[in-house]
Amino acid sequence: MSVVRPDRYYTSVGAIDLDSLREAGIRGVLLDLDNTILPRDTGEIPQVARIFAKSLGEHGIQVCLVSNNWHHRVSAVADELGSLLVSKALKPLPFAFRRGMRLMGTLPGETATIGDQIFTDVLGGNLAGTMTVLVDPLSRTDLPHTLLLRLIEARVMADRVPLA
Ligand SMILES: [Mg+2]
Repeated sequence: MSVVRPDRYYTSVGAIDLDSLREAGIRGVLLDLDNTILPRDTGEIPQVARIFAKSLGEHGIQVCLVSNNWHHRVSAVADELGSLLVSKALKPLPFAFRRGMRLMGTLPGETATIGDQIFTDVLGGNLAGTMTVLVDPLSRTDLPHTLLLRLIEARVMADRVPLA
């Protein structure tokens, strides 16, 4: 398996089959923030993200936000969703992924990394030995270098269709 290919691909966190994650032995989720659960354009947590966070808890799956960002909003969102947090993560470097797993008390084989970017979330999650789940970004607004990477992501994912 290539390190830039996700194990699973969905249109949104709301479409992720949590029962099947549990069946695969997943007990903890390393969850990206920007454009995965928080749109970059509005900065408001959408209902789908709130329901997803609640549903993770109902499935007995822990959650740790792992964000390269460090602004005040990051910790505010973690508080609102009642999740653990690793900010200034420097994804795709593995340190934050390992720290998140330590906080949750999970092993790589029990952990899924969920995010909207191949070269931070999927690459880092694969290098850390976790399951990787790619979702489509919540908004088209992105940092300039991210918009450039989106062109490459589109090629990497050209043969993939979302599971849901
Ligand atoms: Mg993101």
